[in-house]
Amino acid sequence: MKRKAVFPGSFDPITLGHCDIIERGLQMFDEIVLAIGVNSAKKYTFSLEQRKAFLEATFAGEEKISIATYETLTIDFCKSVEAQFILRGLRSTTDFNYERPIAQTNRAMDSEVETVFLMASPAVTHVSSSIVREIMKYDGNYQHLVPDTVRK
Ligand code: ADP
Repeated sequence: MKRKAVFPGSFDPITLGHCDIIERGLQMFDEIVLAIGVNSAKKYTFSLEQRKAFLEATFAGEEKISIATYETLTIDFCKSVEAQFILRGLRSTTDFNYERPIAQTNRAMDSEVETVFLMASPAVTHVSSSIVREIMKYDGNYQHLVPDTVRK
């Protein structure tokens, strides 16, 4: 059976931190679905279409990667695409404390879907979409934090 993972996120915008987790995930999984969760209560800087376009451009030609959006619980989305894994990245204890109850709740809802965490690579531990947005807001240089496709 193919090992399929969902990498859920806001990707507002995609950063080199996300890319690091995705590239390492490709060594572990046969397929990865980059899934943008649509949360109507949350405000985003980039539109859903723009965030999706960034992902598509960044991973164009990568056969193992597909891009999707979803408006359900992440665990239900995993079932709908027949993924056995949820991929997430950990940068800090803040990430850990946020992720732990979510992963445990997801597992309680469906024990067939495992959440797999990859520790952020030291070179990108400080990178986050919110830092990129902040630099963009003040017209600073964020080029070293994002893939080429977002730089343009
Ligand atoms: P969400 O709103 O779901 O947290 P994000 O797009 O901010 O969406 O993050 C998606 C995933 O990518 C999360 O697991 C987050 O921890 C991970 N991530 C984001 N930036 C980095 C980074 N610099 N290094 C490792 N993982 C990261």
